Amino acid sequence: MPSVNVAVVGSGPAGIYAAGELVRKTDAAVDVIDRIPAPYGLVRYGVAPDHPRIKAVVKSLQRTLEHERVRFLGNVEFGRDIDRAFLDAHYDATIYATGALHSKPLGIEGEQLPGSRSASDFVSWYNGHPDAAGGFDLDSSAAAVVGAGNVALDVARLLTRGVGSLCATDIPSSVLEAFAASRVRDVHILCRRGAADAKFTTKELLDLHDLRGVGVLVDPGDLQDLGSGAADSGEAASPNVELFRAWAADAAAQQSEPSRIHIHFWARPVAIQGGDRVESIRIERMERTDEGTIHGTGEFRTLGVGLVLSSVGYRSNPLPGLPYDLARGVLPNVAGRVVDEDGNHIPSLYVTGWLKRGPQGVIGTNKTCAAETVAAVIEDLAGRSARSGTAAVDHGLTALGAEVIDYGGWRRIDAQELARGQESGRDRAKICEWAELRAVGAGHLAETGR
Ligand SMILES: Cc1cc2nc3c(=O)[nH]c(=O)nc-3n(C[C@H](O)[C@H](O)[C@H](O)COP(=O)(O)OP(=O)(O)OC[C@H]3O[C@@H](n4cnc5c(N)ncnc54)[C@H](O)[C@@H]3O)c2cc1C
Repeated sequence: MPSVNVAVVGSGPAGIYAAGELVRKTDAAVDVIDRIPAPYGLVRYGVAPDHPRIKAVVKSLQRTLEHERVRFLGNVEFGRDIDRAFLDAHYDATIYATGALHSKPLGIEGEQLPGSRSASDFVSWYNGHPDAAGGFDLDSSAAAVVGAGNVALDVARLLTRGVGSLCATDIPSSVLEAFAASRVRDVHILCRRGAADAKFTTKELLDLHDLRGVGVLVDPGDLQDLGSGAADSGEAASPNVELFRAWAADAAAQQSEPSRIHIHFWARPVAIQGGDRVESIRIERMERTDEGTIHGTGEFRTLGVGLVLSSVGYRSNPLPGLPYDLARGVLPNVAGRVVDEDGNHIPSLYVTGWLKRGPQGVIGTNKTCAAETVAAVIEDLAGRSARSGTAAVDHGLTALGAEVIDYGGWRRIDAQELARGQESGRDRAKICEWAELRAVGAGHLAETGR
């Protein structure tokens, strides 16, 4: 019998990296639990479909899920099927890794108008997440994306790149049809601060640079003050800034492209306007004070847009029965050990990934993050023996009425998606509905009508 049993709640990269580190460094048995019958978190449901090389990280994550001491327990939701008492009773330690995909609101007038949504809704839609609610109207010629990070770039790129290069990807067919019929030609990215403050990575900007048929426009006036990022580093010409300058100097050629992404710096949205739906967005020009803070100049303008997608930050949802750091939107912790309001470690509770450190960093960052958490688990559990076994967990889950889709179930879903993809010359055709995911995962193929 393995020395200890550990639960990992969340099968995104952070959770799976933690499981991998545990089985590499100890003889623990690890259950990786996820509310969705499919593993991999935002690698499956966040990374854009036109970034297949990034999605290929699932190959190494898959090896961990196939380890003899790791089990995948999909379709089991913390807070619905199981709670902290269940995990505390059955496992020697629990590592929470449920991510942070709850969008922060813009908090401006008109945000509730039809046509104003979060970028994460849009991402969930184009990635076939089973929670994705409804489609998107792409029937106006211009859209605005609020935010200065890579998610804003992903969304702007997907809205403008045309469907040709997306046909072979795992993007759902219904989304492909909507993109094919889209009338959107201009996407405005609105950044509150200066060019050197934006969180875009150079790699993502270069993706835009290399995109055929899409121009990128930057107003040279927006680059006069690069922002405190440049002032702090004393560097006025980072690779990003070089790219912005090159685009600003090439306006005529960029403007002549069939679709265009306009990156506006020092632009804060103050209201979304329209009658029955979004018709425009009102923006105030911002500027930096001598103290380095920013404030509105009182200079306003309006952009005609029929769609507004906000991407101004993500936070985790509080998990029932666990503490929550309201200010940072994370599970409070010290180097991965979950702590109470006095800063004391709550025995057997740990956290990793975006739930631990907020929505920062790339997929690989979660590996280091998970290693830190697992080091704490190993130190705390040294010399302990298992308080329960997998049979008791299974019995408990059945008693609670949980309908577990295990790794075999996920492989059935995976095989179906790959086969359906092959039929239509695509990487994979994702199953996007809860009922069908569960039916295929449970082996009830007849229920899918196939
Ligand atoms: C739109 C977008 C695009 C991105 N693109 C890239 C990219 O191109 N390259 C890159 O390096 N990084 C990218 N990232 C960042 C990367 O996805 C994150 O670093 C990483 O996914 C965070 O891992 P995580 O495991 O903490 O969270 P997640 O990946 O969000 O995983 C959390 C898991 O927990 C599960 N879960 C949630 N709640 C519960 C519950 N109550 N019970 C059970 N399970 C639950 C979820 O279903 C999910 O599987 C992107 C992020 C976003 C938002």
